[in-house]
Amino acid sequence: MPGGRDVAAVNDVSFDLAAGECLALVGESGCGKSVLASALLGLLPANARTRGSARLAPEGPDLLTASQAMLSRTVRGRRLGLIPQSPSAHLTPVRTVRAQLEETVREVTGTPRAGLRAATRRAAERAAFPLDHLDRYPHQLSGGLAQRAATALALVGEAPLLIADEPTTGLDRDLVDRTVDELRRHVDDGHGLLVITHDLAAAERIADRVAVMYAGRIVELRSSPDFFGEPGPRHPYAAGLLDALPERAFVPIPGLPPELDALPAGCAFAPRCPAASETCATLPAFAGGLACHHPREAVADA
Ligand code: SF4
Repeated sequence: MPGGRDVAAVNDVSFDLAAGECLALVGESGCGKSVLASALLGLLPANARTRGSARLAPEGPDLLTASQAMLSRTVRGRRLGLIPQSPSAHLTPVRTVRAQLEETVREVTGTPRAGLRAATRRAAERAAFPLDHLDRYPHQLSGGLAQRAATALALVGEAPLLIADEPTTGLDRDLVDRTVDELRRHVDDGHGLLVITHDLAAAERIADRVAVMYAGRIVELRSSPDFFGEPGPRHPYAAGLLDALPERAFVPIPGLPPELDALPAGCAFAPRCPAASETCATLPAFAGGLACHHPREAVADA
């Protein structure tokens, strides 16, 4: 773009996700989590550039290069569902929740007219959306109710892969647990779930594996029990995220993440990292689930 700036929002990201598995993508705001989701859904701005590939199955189309017509006709909502980060913006403002749910149920499941009302009620109940609010318009919903409406819409299609971008935003803790447990049931029914969240308690409750993103890169990827339990995260940033939780050490990570258009040449976490050394002026490669020159055990042994 003439006069514009190039921003490398996501770099060298590689992961797989099996049917019946949940991967939680965690990290501070602005680390590239939602950009990654938008890339998978073909929802990046027109001037965005992508490299690499993303496939729903080995022989399936590449989501990064598929046409918008193909993505909207055969992928989005059918093979790849989305619980969006801004649900009220995602809902159609001039139609009630019932109208939108009924249309989705009819189009995606082929439910005949006679069974549509009951199927719509079941879809709403699944996401804990109150039935007496079904005839409301999106602007009449709180943020939490809009979130539940969007969740109900996303679950209808039974898509093999669901991307949930901050699905618990605006919900109180009880509803967080209820939403997370419903999403977990969806996973246990054999669907894949990529959940993007800054809510580590929700991630611990739902995820099989955790991927930690920092400054556009995955810096640690490991099983949820290892990450949240023993031996715990090895990357200093990942450890810092857990230490910042009120129920743990409650010690925030000092400083702020870097701007994505002004990343340092080496490890982007170095200015905030207690273990940084001269070696960290070179970018650590991602290997064995980790991108760090001095992972935690190495620091402890030093
Ligand atoms: S590579 Fe260096 S600066 Fe980066 S997280 Fe590891 S120890 Fe810290």
